[in-house]
Amino acid sequence: MGKYFGTSGIREIVNETLTPELALNVGKALGTYLSGGTVVVGMDTRTSGEMLKRAVISGLLSTGVDVIDIGLAPTPLTGFAIRLYGADAGVTITASHNPPEYNGIKVWQPNGMAYTPEMENELEAILESGNFRKATWNEIGSIRRADPKDEYIKKALEVVHLDSSYTVVVDSGNGAGSILSPYLQRELGNRVISLNSHPTGFFVRELEPNAKSLSALAKTVRAMKADVGIAHDGDADRIGVVDDEGNFVEYEVMLSLIAGYALRKFGKGKIVTTVDAGFALDDYVKPLGGEVIRTRVGDVAVADELARHGGVFGGEPSGTWIIPQWNLTPDGIFAGALVLEMIDRLGPLSELAKEVPRYVTLRAKIPCPNEKKARAMELIAQEALEAFDYERLIDIDGVRIENSDWWILFRPSGTEPIMRITLEAHTEEKARELMEKAEKLVRRAIERA
Ligand code: MG
Repeated sequence: MGKYFGTSGIREIVNETLTPELALNVGKALGTYLSGGTVVVGMDTRTSGEMLKRAVISGLLSTGVDVIDIGLAPTPLTGFAIRLYGADAGVTITASHNPPEYNGIKVWQPNGMAYTPEMENELEAILESGNFRKATWNEIGSIRRADPKDEYIKKALEVVHLDSSYTVVVDSGNGAGSILSPYLQRELGNRVISLNSHPTGFFVRELEPNAKSLSALAKTVRAMKADVGIAHDGDADRIGVVDDEGNFVEYEVMLSLIAGYALRKFGKGKIVTTVDAGFALDDYVKPLGGEVIRTRVGDVAVADELARHGGVFGGEPSGTWIIPQWNLTPDGIFAGALVLEMIDRLGPLSELAKEVPRYVTLRAKIPCPNEKKARAMELIAQEALEAFDYERLIDIDGVRIENSDWWILFRPSGTEPIMRITLEAHTEEKARELMEKAEKLVRRAIERA
C-alpha cells in the first residue's frame, strides 16, 4: 500500500485528503501510465461525485486519453462498460460503504478486474514524480457520454432466466444501485418494490448491508409477503439478502448457497474465497464438486486468482461476489439476479438456508490508528501462541490461527483506522471465550505499539 492507494484504491474524506487537485493528478497519472487509449469513468451518488469525476476526466484528457463518461453508475456497470466499449481502463468515483463525507477513486483493468497493488504502485510512482504526459493542443483527449444500462440488462437476461415471477424488495441504500438493480429485477419478470432508491448522496441507512442496517428491508419483506429482499452498498458491488420470512441471511450462509448454486449452474470446479471465510463454505460445496481456494482479503485478490487459474465462482463473506462467466468486477446487481434464479430452481431461501452447516462467527472492530497497525500486528503474531494453543498460523493476509474446530483472523482494515477480529467456532460459548481473549490481545498490542 502506498501513500494514496489502500486496499480499495484511494478512499478519503472529501476536500481534506481527497481534493479536486489530487483527483486531477490521479487522472494525469493514469493517462501517463496508459499513454493513449480510452477510459470509462463512472461515479456513485455521493455529493462530491461530479466534482471529483470532472477533475479525473480533466487530468485524463490533458494526457491525450479519450474518455467515455457514463455518469452515475454502480461499480459493476462501469466494469461491464469497460468490456462493452473495449476500453483500456475504467475509473470509479466511489467510497463504497463508507460514510457520506468520504469518496474514493478506484481503477479497473480492461478485463473488468480492479488494478492490482503492483499496478497501483506504478500509478503512485507517477503521481509522486509529478512527471505527467502533456498532450499538444491537437492531441488533447475527446470525451463522449454513454449509457450502457440497456446493454447490461440485455446481456444479463441472456445468462439468467426465471420460470416464475417473484415479489422482490430492493433496497439500494440511496446508492448507485438505485438506477439498475430494481430495473434488472423487473426485466426478469418480477414484481419489484424499491426502497431507498433516490440516488441523492444523502444516505437514509448505514451503507454496509447487515442485519441492523437492513431492518426496514426486513420489515417490508414481511409486510409485503415478498419472496426475497435484496440490498446493496453505495456502489452496488456487494449484496445483502433477506429471506422470505424477513430474516437477514448471514453472509457466510449466503456465500455457501450461491457458491453451491454456481457449481450447479456452471459445472464443478474451484470456488475462490478469502482467509476470513469460514468452514461452512468448504463443507457445503464439497459434495457439489467444489474445491475451495483461499486468497488474501479483497476483490482484487479473488479476481486475480480467478483470472490466473480459473474457477466457477469467487466471493468474500462481505457479500462481494465475482461470477467469472459474467465479469471479473464484483457485481451485487447481477448477484441479485442469480439469487432469484436459485430461488426459482431450488425453492424458498428460508428453506435453502437450513441446508448450510452453521458455526458461530463473531466479528469485532477495535479502533487502531493507521500508523500503529504494522507494529500491533507484529506483537499479535508474536504473542498469539501464548494466548491461544493453535495448530496452524497463516499469514498471507493478517494473521489467521486455526485448529480443527475454530479459527481466528486478526487483520488491520485497509480502509479505516480499525483492527478487525473475525473468528469461528462450533459453539457460541467457545466463540465468546475466544473473542474475549482475542480482544484483550489486540487491545494490549495496540497500546504497546
Ligand atoms: Mg462497494
